[in-house]
Amino acid sequence: MGTLFSLRTPLSYPAGHRGNQARQAAQLAPGWCPLTTEVRVRIDRVVIAGAGLAGLRTAEELRGRGYPGAITMIGAESRPPYDRPPLTKKFMTGQLDDTSLAADPVALGLDLRLGEAATGLADGLLRTSRGEYPFDALVLATGAAPVRLPGRGRQWVLRTFDDAWALRDALLPGVRLVVVGAGWIGAELATTAAGRGCQVTVVEAGAAPLAGAIGAEVGLRTVPWYPAAGVDLRLGQPVASVEDGGLALPDGGWLPADIIVTAIGVRPQLDWLAGSGVSVGNGIEVDGQLRTSVPRVYAAGDCAAFLSARYQRRLRVEHWDNALHAPAAVAAGITGEETGYDPVPYFWSEQFGRMVQYAGHHTGADRLLWRGDPAGARWAACWLAGDTRQDRLVALLTVGHPKDLVQGRRVIAAGGAVDPARLADPAVAVRDAALAVT
Ligand code: FAD
Repeated sequence: MGTLFSLRTPLSYPAGHRGNQARQAAQLAPGWCPLTTEVRVRIDRVVIAGAGLAGLRTAEELRGRGYPGAITMIGAESRPPYDRPPLTKKFMTGQLDDTSLAADPVALGLDLRLGEAATGLADGLLRTSRGEYPFDALVLATGAAPVRLPGRGRQWVLRTFDDAWALRDALLPGVRLVVVGAGWIGAELATTAAGRGCQVTVVEAGAAPLAGAIGAEVGLRTVPWYPAAGVDLRLGQPVASVEDGGLALPDGGWLPADIIVTAIGVRPQLDWLAGSGVSVGNGIEVDGQLRTSVPRVYAAGDCAAFLSARYQRRLRVEHWDNALHAPAAVAAGITGEETGYDPVPYFWSEQFGRMVQYAGHHTGADRLLWRGDPAGARWAACWLAGDTRQDRLVALLTVGHPKDLVQGRRVIAAGGAVDPARLADPAVAVRDAALAVT
């Protein structure tokens, strides 16, 4: 069944790891070293922990590359892989009942183990709630889970199909819904709940919606969208705890609610990797080929924080496009081909009747440039880096303008050199504002 693959393995491992012998043999300095050594490894058994989009795509990419060996996929949820983005959108409005991903485990030759969680990792062996799985290569694709607030009251979250199903049943006309957090999930849920006739209040500790993701200056442009949809948005309002019948506020105040949804972000759940040698920070730390600090263990999707040469930092991207594409690089690594993973990140959100899209990464940008009128239906915010002699587009957010987004993403990927005056003019196509990279 198996195949011999040429693997390039990192020459730096955690202290005490036996992989250090290889590094020492090569007389390399301690610490992370991008140099690799080529070894011939027989890969017969790939185990994937996590049966979401990234897990499934890894299996598909492996088969697409001709990998003939065994693939075991272990998923904590009892459902086969499904898509999450529709859960706040067409599923929540009732236009869609099934968000399953189109995949045939039998055709993929996939040993799919559902309702089973990975609980530990030791040399070449994945432990789960039901057993142990030896592997030649392991892919960690365990996603992320919602952060919760303190308090004894019922706190709903929206991450899984079951969460969404229960919430959809409960969001009846007239229900007082309080959403904590004006992020992507909060804004989308507020949109659909208001459409279902609920009385919706969104409380946000920050000064603007989406401030953590896109900054307050751009996030503030979305404020008028809330009252226009009949949603009561309360900014600068922290929450002390979730109690029966409402939210306790830090100043002693009380906000009554029938349903409270906590939408304040997600975090990878990685305690089970303690002692495994897999380096964990803000997510599972992987290099530009999505390899963890343990040989032949990879990570992809929401749980992985990869080294981006493009942005000169580690990125953990909690978006669908990343879970879709990163597995190709993992499968390439497992099958012995080296393709780096360094995308221009992309995501979209559908809120208050608008298509909002973002490409790039704006941390470290020097200035913001508006394209079109942010009070209107179609506009963009463009983040530029560099001095005025050589402005580079590093990220853009578009509202109601997919064409600008697509062109902007290409311009960023090509290096980002732009003429700011032309970029600010909505009559000029984004691609025509690009300059040759110098
Ligand atoms: P997940 O989809 O989280 O899958 C990981 C799986 O691993 C889960 O099933 C989990 O139960 C399982 N697991 C966890 N721990 C273990 C363990 N120890 N052992 C075994 N299995 C385990 N992105 C966008 O770009 N645009 C959108 O509009 C958008 N909308 C969204 C709406 C909602 C409601 C949600 C929740 C997400 C949305 N996203 C959106 C984000 C996108 O869905 C995620 O980025 C994507 O699902 C990540 O895929 P993943 O496979 O990495 O993780």
